[in-house]
Amino acid sequence: MTRRIGIYPGTFDPITYGHMDIIKRSLTLVDKLIIAVADDMPKTPIFDLSERARLTESDVIEEGLADRVEVKGFSGLLVEFAKAQHATLIIRGLRAVSDFEYEFQLSAINSKLSPEVQTVFLPASEQHQFLASRFVKEAARLGAEVDQFVSAEVAKALKRYYA
Ligand code: ADP
Repeated sequence: MTRRIGIYPGTFDPITYGHMDIIKRSLTLVDKLIIAVADDMPKTPIFDLSERARLTESDVIEEGLADRVEVKGFSGLLVEFAKAQHATLIIRGLRAVSDFEYEFQLSAINSKLSPEVQTVFLPASEQHQFLASRFVKEAARLGAEVDQFVSAEVAKALKRYYA
Protein backbone atom coordinates (compact mmCIF):
# COMPACT_ATOMS: atom_id res chain seq x y z
CA MET A 1 0.00 0.00 0.00
CA THR A 2 1.34 3.46 -0.82
CA ARG A 3 1.92 5.69 2.12
CA ARG A 4 0.66 9.22 1.92
CA ILE A 5 3.30 11.68 3.02
CA GLY A 6 2.47 15.26 3.97
CA ILE A 7 4.67 18.28 4.55
CA TYR A 8 3.84 20.93 7.13
CA PRO A 9 6.14 23.86 6.38
CA GLY A 10 6.69 26.96 8.47
CA THR A 11 9.06 29.07 10.45
CA PHE A 12 8.09 27.56 13.82
CA ASP A 13 9.73 30.45 15.69
CA PRO A 14 8.82 28.87 18.07
CA ILE A 15 6.32 26.00 17.79
CA THR A 16 3.04 26.73 19.66
CA TYR A 17 0.02 24.66 20.69
CA GLY A 18 -1.66 26.07 17.55
CA HIS A 19 0.94 24.37 15.36
CA MET A 20 0.66 21.19 17.44
CA ASP A 21 -3.09 21.11 16.93
CA ILE A 22 -2.61 21.27 13.14
CA ILE A 23 0.06 18.55 13.35
CA LYS A 24 -2.22 16.16 15.26
CA ARG A 25 -5.23 16.78 13.02
CA SER A 26 -3.18 16.43 9.83
CA LEU A 27 -2.34 12.87 10.91
CA THR A 28 -5.91 11.94 9.97
CA LEU A 29 -5.01 12.88 6.37
CA VAL A 30 -1.53 11.43 5.98
CA ASP A 31 0.36 8.34 7.10
CA LYS A 32 3.52 10.29 7.72
CA LEU A 33 4.05 13.98 8.33
CA ILE A 34 7.28 15.86 7.77
CA ILE A 35 7.47 19.15 9.64
CA ALA A 36 9.63 21.28 7.37
CA VAL A 37 11.31 24.01 9.36
CA ALA A 38 12.28 26.77 6.94
CA ASP A 39 15.80 28.08 6.99
CA ASP A 40 15.50 31.16 4.81
CA MET A 41 12.20 32.93 5.33
CA PRO A 42 11.24 36.56 4.70
CA LYS A 43 10.77 36.83 8.50
CA THR A 44 13.80 37.12 10.75
CA PRO A 45 13.46 34.43 13.39
CA ILE A 46 14.74 34.85 16.96
CA PHE A 47 15.81 31.20 17.11
CA ASP A 48 18.20 29.76 14.55
CA LEU A 49 17.19 26.78 12.43
CA SER A 50 18.73 24.13 14.68
CA GLU A 51 17.03 25.55 17.79
CA ARG A 52 13.64 25.82 16.04
CA ALA A 53 14.00 22.22 14.83
CA ARG A 54 15.16 21.03 18.28
CA LEU A 55 12.17 22.63 20.06
CA THR A 56 9.75 21.28 17.44
CA GLU A 57 11.21 17.79 17.75
CA SER A 58 11.06 17.96 21.54
CA ASP A 59 7.31 18.80 21.38
CA VAL A 60 6.68 16.01 18.86
CA ILE A 61 8.37 13.49 21.16
CA GLU A 62 6.54 14.83 24.22
CA GLU A 63 3.20 14.40 22.42
CA GLY A 64 4.11 10.80 21.53
CA LEU A 65 3.97 11.43 17.78
CA ALA A 66 7.56 10.58 16.84
CA ASP A 67 6.65 7.34 15.05
CA ARG A 68 4.65 9.24 12.39
CA VAL A 69 6.12 12.73 12.48
CA GLU A 70 9.60 13.72 11.43
CA VAL A 71 11.18 17.16 11.78
CA LYS A 72 13.51 18.36 9.01
CA GLY A 73 15.11 21.68 8.21
CA PHE A 74 14.94 22.87 4.63
CA SER A 75 16.02 25.77 2.47
CA GLY A 76 15.12 26.66 -1.09
CA LEU A 77 11.88 25.93 -2.86
CA LEU A 78 9.26 24.16 -0.77
CA VAL A 79 7.78 22.23 -3.69
CA GLU A 80 11.22 20.84 -4.59
CA PHE A 81 11.74 19.77 -0.98
CA ALA A 82 8.26 18.19 -0.96
CA LYS A 83 9.04 16.22 -4.13
CA ALA A 84 12.39 15.06 -2.77
CA GLN A 85 10.55 13.77 0.33
CA HIS A 86 7.92 12.02 -1.87
CA ALA A 87 5.23 14.17 -0.27
CA THR A 88 1.98 14.76 -2.13
CA LEU A 89 0.31 17.15 0.30
CA ILE A 90 1.37 20.48 1.75
CA ILE A 91 -0.52 21.19 4.97
CA ARG A 92 -1.12 24.77 6.11
CA GLY A 93 -3.19 26.14 8.96
CA LEU A 94 -5.70 28.96 8.51
CA ARG A 95 -6.57 31.36 11.27
CA ALA A 96 -9.57 33.70 10.97
CA VAL A 97 -9.39 35.92 7.89
CA SER A 98 -5.91 37.28 8.45
CA ASP A 99 -4.07 34.27 7.00
CA PHE A 100 -6.32 33.83 4.00
CA GLU A 101 -4.90 36.13 1.35
CA TYR A 102 -1.27 35.20 1.97
CA GLU A 103 -2.00 31.48 2.17
CA PHE A 104 -4.20 31.58 -0.93
CA GLN A 105 -1.47 33.28 -2.98
CA LEU A 106 1.23 30.97 -1.68
CA SER A 107 -0.78 27.88 -2.57
CA ALA A 108 -1.44 29.27 -6.08
CA ILE A 109 2.27 29.81 -6.71
CA ASN A 110 3.18 26.40 -5.34
CA SER A 111 0.53 24.71 -7.45
CA LYS A 112 1.86 26.44 -10.60
CA LEU A 113 5.41 25.40 -9.73
CA SER A 114 4.39 21.84 -8.99
CA PRO A 115 0.83 20.77 -9.88
CA GLU A 116 1.36 17.28 -8.44
CA VAL A 117 1.70 18.61 -4.91
CA GLN A 118 -1.62 19.79 -3.46
CA THR A 119 -2.04 22.28 -0.63
CA VAL A 120 -4.59 21.43 2.04
CA PHE A 121 -5.80 23.99 4.60
CA LEU A 122 -6.88 23.03 8.08
CA PRO A 123 -8.86 25.66 9.96
CA ALA A 124 -7.42 26.69 13.32
CA SER A 125 -9.36 25.24 16.24
CA GLU A 126 -11.51 27.72 18.08
CA GLN A 127 -9.17 27.95 21.08
CA HIS A 128 -6.13 28.60 18.83
CA GLN A 129 -7.67 31.14 16.42
CA PHE A 130 -5.58 33.99 17.82
CA LEU A 131 -2.46 32.10 18.76
CA ALA A 132 0.57 33.16 16.72
CA SER A 133 4.29 32.74 17.39
CA ARG A 134 4.81 36.48 17.11
CA PHE A 135 2.32 37.28 19.89
CA VAL A 136 3.81 34.63 22.13
CA LYS A 137 7.26 36.17 21.55
CA GLU A 138 5.92 39.63 22.31
CA ALA A 139 4.25 38.41 25.52
CA ALA A 140 7.42 36.57 26.60
CA ARG A 141 9.53 39.62 25.82
CA LEU A 142 7.36 41.68 28.16
CA GLY A 143 7.74 39.11 30.93
CA ALA A 144 4.38 37.25 30.68
CA GLU A 145 4.06 33.53 31.48
CA VAL A 146 3.37 31.79 28.17
CA ASP A 147 2.77 28.22 29.41
CA GLN A 148 -0.79 28.15 28.11
CA PHE A 149 0.43 28.75 24.55
CA VAL A 150 3.65 26.71 24.31
CA SER A 151 5.27 23.67 25.93
CA ALA A 152 7.48 23.97 29.01
CA GLU A 153 10.59 23.44 26.88
CA VAL A 154 9.62 26.27 24.52
CA ALA A 155 8.68 28.56 27.42
CA LYS A 156 12.12 27.88 28.92
CA ALA A 157 13.85 28.74 25.63
CA LEU A 158 11.87 32.00 25.37
CA LYS A 159 12.77 32.94 28.95
CA ARG A 160 16.44 32.26 28.18
CA TYR A 161 16.30 34.33 24.99
CA TYR A 162 14.66 37.36 26.61
CA ALA A 163 16.64 37.16 29.87
P1 ADP B 1 4.99 30.83 8.27
O1 ADP B 1 6.14 31.70 8.67
O2 ADP B 1 5.19 30.03 7.06
O3 ADP B 1 3.65 31.51 8.35
P2 ADP B 1 4.45 29.71 10.84
O4 ADP B 1 5.43 28.92 11.64
O5 ADP B 1 4.08 31.05 11.35
O6 ADP B 1 5.02 29.74 9.40
O7 ADP B 1 3.15 28.85 10.64
C1 ADP B 1 3.16 27.66 9.91
C2 ADP B 1 1.76 27.30 9.53
O8 ADP B 1 1.00 27.07 10.71
C3 ADP B 1 1.02 28.38 8.75
O9 ADP B 1 0.18 27.75 7.81
C4 ADP B 1 0.20 29.06 9.81
O10 ADP B 1 -0.96 29.66 9.26
C5 ADP B 1 -0.15 27.89 10.70
N1 ADP B 1 -0.45 28.28 12.07
C6 ADP B 1 0.31 28.99 12.92
N2 ADP B 1 -0.32 29.19 14.10
C7 ADP B 1 -1.53 28.57 13.99
C8 ADP B 1 -2.67 28.41 14.84
N3 ADP B 1 -2.73 28.99 16.04
N4 ADP B 1 -3.72 27.70 14.38
C9 ADP B 1 -3.69 27.17 13.14
N5 ADP B 1 -2.66 27.29 12.27
C10 ADP B 1 -1.60 27.97 12.68
